[in-house]
Formats: sequence, C-alpha cells, structure tokens
Amino acid sequence: MDTIQILVIDDEKVIREGVDRALSGKGYSISKAENGERGIEMMKEDDFNIVLLDLMMPGIDGFGVLEWIQENCPHIQVIVITGFATVSKAVSAMKQGAFDFVGKPFTPDYIRIVVDRAIEKISLRAETAKLREEKTLSLEEIQKEKSRLKTVFSCMAEAVIITDKDAVVVHHNPAAIKLLEIQTDPVIGKPLAVSIKDENAVNMVIESLEKEVVVTREFSPGKISRKFLRAHCSPVRSTSGNVLGAVMNFEDISTHKEIDKMKSDFVAMVAHELKSPLASIEQMIYALQADCEYEGLSSCNALHGRMTVRTKDLLRLIDNLLNLSKLENGTIIFNLEPTRGHDIIVDILEIANPQAESKNIQIEYLPCDDDWWFNVDYDHIRTAFMNIISNAVKYTPEGGRLEISTTVNGGLANLIVKDSGIGINEEDLPHIFDRFFRVKGKATRHITGSGLGLSLVKEVVDAHQGYIEVHSTPNVGTTFTLSFPVTQKQTLTA
Ligand code: ATP
Ligand code: MG
Repeated sequence: MDTIQILVIDDEKVIREGVDRALSGKGYSISKAENGERGIEMMKEDDFNIVLLDLMMPGIDGFGVLEWIQENCPHIQVIVITGFATVSKAVSAMKQGAFDFVGKPFTPDYIRIVVDRAIEKISLRAETAKLREEKTLSLEEIQKEKSRLKTVFSCMAEAVIITDKDAVVVHHNPAAIKLLEIQTDPVIGKPLAVSIKDENAVNMVIESLEKEVVVTREFSPGKISRKFLRAHCSPVRSTSGNVLGAVMNFEDISTHKEIDKMKSDFVAMVAHELKSPLASIEQMIYALQADCEYEGLSSCNALHGRMTVRTKDLLRLIDNLLNLSKLENGTIIFNLEPTRGHDIIVDILEIANPQAESKNIQIEYLPCDDDWWFNVDYDHIRTAFMNIISNAVKYTPEGGRLEISTTVNGGLANLIVKDSGIGINEEDLPHIFDRFFRVKGKATRHITGSGLGLSLVKEVVDAHQGYIEVHSTPNVGTTFTLSFPVTQKQTLTA
C-alpha cells in the first residue's frame, strides 16, 4: 500500500499536535487543518485516506465537513474526535458515515489503535475491490470462452449429440439435425430413441454408458439418413470418475465409400480384362503342345501367331493402364517440342494404312494449306492420334472409307477423323471416354478392345490444352475432331 495520508482537522492546537505525536514514526504522512474550511480546501488538493475530525469547531463544524466528505471523497475513513460529554454526537456522526470515534482526552495508544483499524479497513476494501475486478474479468473470460465454444460447436460439419446417463439428449449442434434428418422438435430433453429411430444407434449409446467404453459403428444409407455415416460414442466422466452421459458424433463417409467402391470396381474390371486374354493364351499353349506333336509345323505357326497377337494386346492394355494412372496423378513428364502437324499425320498414316488395307478400307488424307506447328510431346500425341485412327479402322466394316483432314482457325489446329463406320448411339456417346467403356451390341461383339483407348486420348489432349468433339450417326459414321493451340514455328520453344 502507498503511504497512508492522514489529515487532522481540529481547532485546538494541542489536539492536532497530540495526534501528530501519537502517530509519528509510523511512516504516515500527517497534515493538519485548524478549522473545517481549511480542511476541505486541503482535501480538494490532496488525496487523504484518513481524516481525524473534531465535531465542535467554529465555522463549518465536524458534521458539515463529514457531509462534504461523504459527498466528495466517500473513500476517506473519518474518525471523529469528541469530548466524552458529547458521545451521543459521535454516535450520530457514525450513523452519518464516520468510521469510529475517539473521546477527548485520549491516550496516544488509543489513537494508534483506532487509526490501525481504519487502515485495516482501507486495505480490506482495496482487496475486495481487486477481487471483485478479477472476478468480473474472469466472468467475462468464461463468457467469451463459452461463446467461442458455442460458435465452434455450431459450425462443425460433424453431427454431435450429447446425452445424459439415461440417454436423454441434453445438447446437439445444427449439423446433427441436418445430417441425421431429425424431425423431432425440440430434440433436447427427449430420449435419443424419440429422435433417432435406428435401434443400433440408440444401443450404441446404451452400450457406451453401460460398459463405459467408446463404441464405433457405421450406418448405410436409409438407416439414419440418406448418407453413409460413421458414428463414435464416448462416455463422459466427472472428475470423480462417474459416468455423466455420452457424446455421439456422426461423420458423413459417403465420399469415402464411393471412392472405395470405384477402387474395387476398377480392380475387378482390370482383373477381368487381364484374365480373358491370359486364359486364351493358356489354351493356345495347351493346343500348341498337342498340335505340334500330331499336326506339324504350319498349325504350330498359326497358333504362335495368334498367341503373339494376344500377348501384344495384353501388353498394350498394361501400357495403357500405366500411362493412364501416370497421366492422372501427374507423374508423367511431357517433352514438349515444336512439331509440324503434317509430319505427325504422315507418320501415323504409315502405320494405319496397312491396317486399313487389310480391311479394304481407303484412307483419304486432306491436309489444309497452312504449314501448322504445335508444341507437343511427339510420342504421346502420336499414340492419341493413332488411337482415334485405329478406332475408325476398327469400327468401320470392310470396304468402308476414312477421311482425315486438318483445318486451322482461331488459333487452333483441328485434326478431323471421319469414318463411314457403325456409329455410336446417342445414349452411349457420353460414356465413350470412360475407362473400360465399350459399346455393347451386335456390331461390336466380335471387335476386341479394352475400352481404355479414348480415356487415354482425353487425358493426353487435356494435358496439351486441347479439346475433343465427337459427332456420330449409327450406321452412317463417326467424326472425331481434336483441336490444339497452334504456335508460330519461330516462337516455338523446345
Ligand atoms: P482399346 O482402344 O482400349 O483397345 P476400345 O477401342 O474398345 O479399346 P476406346 O478406344 O476407348 O476402346 O473406345 C471406346 C468405345 O467407343 C469402343 O469400344 C467403341 O464402342 C466406341 N468407339 C470408339 N471409336 C469409335 C468409332 N470410330 N466408331 C464407332 N464406335 C467407336
Ligand atoms: Mg480404341
């Protein structure tokens, strides 16, 4: 505590001096005023803690000064100094707010005792004020923390329901109503079974409360909501270890389930695609053993040839799969280089022509007049073009026609592959770029393929900032247009 400031207001000098002497050496700062007016003036200038006040003074008497103090400096502890004959006056002064009184004549000890008591009161009061301030602050802090928690709880995407030990809901967040599609209103105060009809979910809470363990369960769509949900239920204990209730939280795992299903579908499809060519190779190996023993070389050669074709198909399928996954997870490295459009097509035609000729299909190439260039990975683009052209040959019956043309407009070069083949139905068209999709029908039954070619083409074209367009009329033909940004040869960078 700072130095205690004491003011003695008394018209009798002896009293003033007496008080001063009694309190000297205690470390107080003592001031003296000879009448009420002077005392008030001094209190206006200085901040006193204790005033020793004579009641009977000429001018403003002690009661007047006391009134002034109550109005202007109510924190000051007033000790009234009065003669024994006028003790009743001291009592009324105390009713008016004085702290204590000292009768004249007084002993120095008595003065010290009364002042000590006043100081004790001052320090108790300061302590109380400090505690009150701390309490207000911590209440504010608790309030802030509460509202912070409330916000977090309300914003959570996970559904949370809190029950008491009898599985009656005591709290829930908005996500619980939404995710669990709860219709009950209100939910709080009712047994969980009223709002959640699924027995298993309710039993989870009961099990968790009875066994005092965390219980986790998954629910399929339709059980609690239209989503796949994973629920955890944990018992809540008091500090003494008694179970007070349970906290249940539900997360939406529909996306994980979908990905899981896609993965297993994909594995099943890949296994199937790998199995059929392998099975036929295996059969041919058996046949080869038997035929070579009994029938001679020419039949062996034929089997050999067929085995080689199937093995190549298998290798191509595996290559396609590997490339697709590399393209999808971005681990493939593209070696972009300036490439002349015309050159890449001529290169492909050299491979495509013998294929087409074997089916008596004519390929007509109509290049545009522009000498267009684009910045591409030669091998990947060639594979993509090749897939489109070999599809056109594959899905065009014997004696058909294939027209390959190029155009350049709006900064794009277009490669147009038009066949007079079996065409694609309107309902199949949106799926032809899906992995493993193959049109099922009479016309395609005997045509082999894995349904990966176009998915790969799409990935490669996308990676080169290109576009694909398809138009098809069943039994008339299909036109694929692949467009890529062209670049001036001079500005190309490798
Ligand atoms: P892969 O190319 O992997 O050996 P695929 O040719 O069956 O097998 P995609 O190239 O992805 O697979 O083609 C998907 C499906 O689209 C084909 O199975 C076929 O039904 C249809 N398709 C593709 N191109 C043509 C076309 N030019 N004419 C008619 N149908 C086509
Ligand atoms: Mg294909």
